[in-house]
Amino acid sequence: MQTARVWRFRKGGNSNVLAPNLGAAAGFVILAGSTVTSSGLTVLTGDLGVSPGSAVTGFPPGILNGTKQFISGAGYNDIYVCMVRTSDDRAKGISCLVVEKDTPGLSFGAPEKKLGWNASPTAQVVFEDCRVPVANRVGAEGDGFRFAMAGLDGGRLNIGACSLGGAQRCLDEAVAYTKDRKQFGQPIADFQNTQFMLADMATDLEAARALLYLAACKVSAGAPDKSRFSAMAKRLATDSGSRIVNDALQLFGGYGYLRDYPIERFWRDLRVHSILEGTNQVMRMIVGRDLLRQ
Ligand SMILES: Cc1cc2nc3c(=O)[nH]c(=O)nc-3n(C[C@H](O)[C@H](O)[C@H](O)COP(=O)(O)OP(=O)(O)OC[C@H]3O[C@@H](n4cnc5c(N)ncnc54)[C@H](O)[C@@H]3O)c2cc1C
Repeated sequence: MQTARVWRFRKGGNSNVLAPNLGAAAGFVILAGSTVTSSGLTVLTGDLGVSPGSAVTGFPPGILNGTKQFISGAGYNDIYVCMVRTSDDRAKGISCLVVEKDTPGLSFGAPEKKLGWNASPTAQVVFEDCRVPVANRVGAEGDGFRFAMAGLDGGRLNIGACSLGGAQRCLDEAVAYTKDRKQFGQPIADFQNTQFMLADMATDLEAARALLYLAACKVSAGAPDKSRFSAMAKRLATDSGSRIVNDALQLFGGYGYLRDYPIERFWRDLRVHSILEGTNQVMRMIVGRDLLRQ
């Protein structure tokens, strides 16, 4: 379920460090020559990763101090793409650094014990006097915020798409199960209540899918309202996805609650999509502000 952002990685100096292919999300996939690795990224919703009080000082050379909670793949990934504060100049004071796993001063917390997303390890990333050469900087000093913002729209679409996929699977499972399961002498699919629930699940899923595809077209085309649409699509797809999976669990009755059946895992896995890549409250803030700016 970890979302991926693809960067072409050629290390060795400012002019050719990384070319971002901005289409993306929270976990990065880095193509380092012929090596394909993945890494964690700070999502810019609250603080900007390394808190200003403990940010990089004297760049170059970069000396990183600070921690970042909730990094997908932390400790497993070979490369960490980090947005770090390199000056007090608000958004222009954020730079993008690539930190390799074996860099002295980089360490990781214990794996978090989570409700779901158990296929994707999550842990804290810790920087203690971690020295990063200037050759590991992506783009120019101060480009980090721009890179991160450019990637977030795509990341939100990825998370929304994960919810659509999980919800579609659970809808399909619910259709099959309700035709099979009999109560009061008939398949539960014959009850009007069941049909109404399935109809609403399918309608909500298609509406969320249509908005997500529209937002994807806007992001691909670089439309001026692409960020509003990806925030709307992420919010709708993830909220609708969780509701559809919850309804599927209900239609499975007690069996939906059992690990022997597939629904409960989707119920747990999709729950985090309303939190990741910016919470759905933050999505509403983005949409509301953009509407009022017009
Ligand atoms: C399994 C998992 C994997 C993750 N992987 C990564 C990763 O790889 N990289 C990464 O960088 N991050 C990752 N994250 C972090 C994730 O992006 C954050 O948890 C998420 O953005 C929310 O931030 P927070 O936890 O600090 O919540 P908070 O910002 O503390 O929010 C708490 C509550 O307050 C609300 N709130 C906050 N600010 C406002 C506001 N201004 N207005 C209204 N309501 C507000 C929120 O909506 C929420 O309900 C991961 C998290 C999880 C759980």
